[in-house]
Amino acid sequence: MTLYDRDRAAIGDLQKLRFFPLAVTGGKGARLTEEGGRELIDLSGAWGAASLGYGHPAIVAAVSAAAANPAGASILSASNAPAVALAERLLAGFPGKGTHKVWFGHSGSDANEAAYRAVTKATGRTGVIAFAGAYHGCTVGSMAFSGHSVQAGAAKADGLILLPYPDPYRPYRDDPTGDAVLALLEERLAAVPAGSIAAAFIEPIQSDGGLIVPPDGFLKKFAALCRAHDILVVCDEVKVGLARSGRLHCFEHEAFVPDILVLGKGLGGGLPLSAVIAPAEILDCAASFAMQTLHGNPICAAAGLTVLDTIETENLAAAAEHKGRLLRAGLADLAGRHPLIGDIRGRGLACGVELVHDRQDRTPARSETAKLIYRAYELGLVLYYVGMNGNVLEFTPPLTTTQADIHEALQKLDQALSDVHTVPDTVLERFAGW
Ligand SMILES: *Cc1c(COP(=O)(O)O)cnc(C)c1O
Repeated sequence: MTLYDRDRAAIGDLQKLRFFPLAVTGGKGARLTEEGGRELIDLSGAWGAASLGYGHPAIVAAVSAAAANPAGASILSASNAPAVALAERLLAGFPGKGTHKVWFGHSGSDANEAAYRAVTKATGRTGVIAFAGAYHGCTVGSMAFSGHSVQAGAAKADGLILLPYPDPYRPYRDDPTGDAVLALLEERLAAVPAGSIAAAFIEPIQSDGGLIVPPDGFLKKFAALCRAHDILVVCDEVKVGLARSGRLHCFEHEAFVPDILVLGKGLGGGLPLSAVIAPAEILDCAASFAMQTLHGNPICAAAGLTVLDTIETENLAAAAEHKGRLLRAGLADLAGRHPLIGDIRGRGLACGVELVHDRQDRTPARSETAKLIYRAYELGLVLYYVGMNGNVLEFTPPLTTTQADIHEALQKLDQALSDVHTVPDTVLERFAGW
């Protein structure tokens, strides 16, 4: 039996989001090794979690040392040196005014849920603002204010206001500036009692909703409007934070600082680790309120410290900016040959390519997208799609991806785009994707 067949027999579908029969036995740099020895270039970087790629020597050293002499296993009932050092390090890199503290978790989901529970508890308000298309997690609490279509069946928070995300390619009310979204927010706020909304959750690039970069100036205006109503602004940078966008924090692309920052995925460099940075009065509003036994695990914290160190020593924010430009230039070149490509967007190494049937009417090319990534897999690429229409290729490769990797990946993608129509429909029946 192949590894993939054993996986089918032994692991439940609840946590599977499969696009092709990838079965991995190892990894090095930006490459994954499949059972049988074939190497693939990982353009997803495990959805952005493999920030330093696979087997980075600094992560190997830090995790080995921490595992050999672990400072306990948790932050709940004892201080531990790596977790405290990581919290101090995160605070030093956060430009917000006033006293902030850190909460640690295992995933973007638990971090967003903790942030949500903490802001509602601390303010005594129940309402929250979020965006259609937003994926904030897959726990009951984080799904309650997520707007992604895969979670349409989940129970939503009382008083949730879901706004359309400002999408320059598919603008709400034909307004590419995003001001129409802000006008809608003002209308919605006028319709609820003053002081009933605790916080607004926003991804500074909406990733699972379609790798959408908001129009210039939108985030700053959105934050100002929220603050005028005494609403806390929470940036969910789980996927696009920590150097991926070309800056340490994605909000730095606009002149504003959120009240609360949520980090995950790339923070652990492949280990489970998330963090919330928030005003002390919010993270101190109650004790033993949002905790899981292994939160603040010192081995994961050691990995997190190494990720932050390596971002600095290898200058990974600037590298992401540079390599992202290279990737988008190569994709623009492909668009000259492949009319399926409707839009190319992104910041740094968070890039999206929207596929359409026709550049004029922009009809989403959903099945072609699924077939394209299947064909790309056959040619040696790991690449997934996102978006409410399932038609946006998402590129979040390791920040350490080499220019040679990018060049080779673009060649394979060129071939895959030429081959889309040879992929049989039966592939789509086998792999649901999302
Ligand atoms: C992936 C993601 C999450 C959820 O993180 P998990 O680690 O899967 O729980 C939350 N927010 C954003 C923006 C994400 O991309």
